Amino acid sequence: ARAIVALVGRPNVGKSTLFNRMAGLRKAIVEDTPGVTRDRIYEQAEWAGREFIVVDTGGIRFEEGDILAPEVKKQSELAIEEADVIVMVVDAREGVTPEDEMVAGILRRANKPVVLAANKVEDFKKHLGYLDFYRLGLGEPIPVSAIHGMNTDELLDAVIALL
Ligand code: GDP
Ligand code: MG
Repeated sequence: ARAIVALVGRPNVGKSTLFNRMAGLRKAIVEDTPGVTRDRIYEQAEWAGREFIVVDTGGIRFEEGDILAPEVKKQSELAIEEADVIVMVVDAREGVTPEDEMVAGILRRANKPVVLAANKVEDFKKHLGYLDFYRLGLGEPIPVSAIHGMNTDELLDAVIALL
């Protein structure tokens, strides 16, 4: 079976944007499925000759009273369970939030290889605030801009190194 890479993190950090970009890498090489829907949760990806499945999740949310929260949280937990490598996505512009800390706690307990993607960093040589995410205890944060595809090659190198 092909290795599974799951994207997890609280809502709105850029998981789906990163997912589209990772899935798009394969499309750039194999142009045999035009118009493939972009809203699927599972998609094939390839980097440096290595094929894997990338999984997007709705995001782990913890607020009380949010009727969707338990379902979304469950979805993320299942994704973590089946994953070989997890990419935790955070929003470097917002900094570390309590939700990030809770997601990180789940991942530390999951005992699976994790790559920490500090997203929305459009100028990582100038803005070093993303280094604050070190405190999540998941290793070195890799600054990326999913929307512009900046430094996503570094992220993918880190992911396939753990497959
Ligand atoms: P998700 O809820 O984690 O799946 O996040 P989305 O992929 O839906 O993105 C949430 C918002 O963040 C959208 O408005 C995106 O356009 C924006 N976004 C995603 N990636 C980036 C990025 O690299 N830089 C910036 N500035 N915005 C981004
Ligand atoms: Mg999304």
